[in-house]
Amino acid sequence: AAEEGFDIEDVEGAIEAAGHGPLPVLAVVGRPNVGKSTLVNRMIGRREAVVEDRPGVTRDRVTYEAEWAGRRFKVVDTGGWEQDVLGIDASVAAQAEYAIEAADAVVFVVDAKVGATDTDEAVVRLLRKAGKPVVLCANKVDGPSGEADAAYLWNLGLGEPHPVSALHGRGTGDMLDAVLEALPDAPEQSFGTAIGGPRRIALIGRPNVGKSSLLNKVAGEERVVVNELAGTTRDPVDEIIELGGKTWKFVDTAGIRKRVHLQQGADYYASLRTAAAVEKAEVAVILLDASENISVQDQRIVTMAVEAGRAIVLAFNKWDTLDEERRYYLEREIETELGQVAWAPRVNVSARTGRHMEKLVPAIETALAGWETRVPTGRLNAFLGELVSAHPHPIRGGKQPRILFGTQAGTKPPRFVLFASGFIEAGYRRFIERRLREEFGFEGTPIHISVRVRE
Ligand code: GDP
Ligand code: GDP
Repeated sequence: AAEEGFDIEDVEGAIEAAGHGPLPVLAVVGRPNVGKSTLVNRMIGRREAVVEDRPGVTRDRVTYEAEWAGRRFKVVDTGGWEQDVLGIDASVAAQAEYAIEAADAVVFVVDAKVGATDTDEAVVRLLRKAGKPVVLCANKVDGPSGEADAAYLWNLGLGEPHPVSALHGRGTGDMLDAVLEALPDAPEQSFGTAIGGPRRIALIGRPNVGKSSLLNKVAGEERVVVNELAGTTRDPVDEIIELGGKTWKFVDTAGIRKRVHLQQGADYYASLRTAAAVEKAEVAVILLDASENISVQDQRIVTMAVEAGRAIVLAFNKWDTLDEERRYYLEREIETELGQVAWAPRVNVSARTGRHMEKLVPAIETALAGWETRVPTGRLNAFLGELVSAHPHPIRGGKQPRILFGTQAGTKPPRFVLFASGFIEAGYRRFIERRLREEFGFEGTPIHISVRVRE
């Protein structure tokens, strides 16, 4: 590498940065208006989050990437919850339950000026039950005079309250240090089959596409009692289901079975649930209603799974209702609306009739295989060498940027780092991704490609 003009440390650093596995997940929970969104904004260091949003406005992103002291993690923000739908207590609890479920650690935000309310106490009970590490954030301590308010929160029995002003930044550094201590190095849902647990599937899709029908169909008679299965922890929100001769863990089936129907805030609730399920899963089976047009909501769910870097299977349900004409238009629609996952295996099923249920498992296995594919460095560079000489990057400003070498830094999903002699244009990056897929498969998986340019 050194003779190509890259410092060996640069190369190693780039590979390490690109090769990280799944990030640990931090949930930020608390009552409305305690300052959760303000705090999340501070953690992600951007202004793109949520404080501006009006209550009830749908947000499709609830997970953000954050970094503190060189460590990266994901933040699940619950600030957009519509508070007056179920009554504050119930909605805060439901929201917190979902977020805590998906998290490796929790920041519990309390308004120190107000002190602990009954709702706060309810969340404390949930936190105790969940047993996840908790950092107690006593927010709105804008100056030294507020410290005494913060100290009162020792009463919650969650350990040291960290006095913070999310608005001004006071104390947030110390609190984030505590967060890093609470977060595991590797997420608890550590990937891979080394521990021998069943593979984890998230069955996702907008309301009424047929998720609970499909779940009932696949669970059928064959549902295995979780307790009886060695090596699986009992988790009432997930279901162990035998399918195609193998055992799978369908995550967050409680969210599907509960079927909470809300007028306001339902979309937000659904996207929080989806995000939580996707975080826990290795593969997302995205269910779509083949009888209806592909909607923006469908696309958001697809984007969520892609951004989370999960293996993906597209399942078109209600196939029993399709006539010839609809089938024709559906194919056109899939091409135009679902281009971003053109690589995902697809099954056309009917939860009602059981049509093609047997194709689900092979599709899932294909996607997981793509997700785990590792290309040896030698083979990758032979491929890159041929590609670059047959299809060089267009000349820009009299220079021709070249891909010098590359390596696969990680899997699940596959991550590549390419080292180049100059800026590589987006079109050429897409071309490389397309050719990588043609050459090595990667069916059913997003792939990440980062390019380092020699200084
Ligand atoms: P969320 O509903 O928990 O997400 O709360 P927000 O982040 O939307 O904050 C609610 C209100 O409290 C907003 O007006 C914020 O500006 C304000 N706020 C948040 N953090 C602080 C803080 O540390 N000090 C003060 N004084 N106000 C804050
Ligand atoms: P969920 O909200 O995604 O869990 O959707 P449900 O499973 O509750 O299904 C919504 C509606 O679609 C129900 O009326 C189901 O009976 C119907 N449905 C589900 N799957 C199929 C299918 O394969 N064919 C037909 N014709 N209807 C279906």
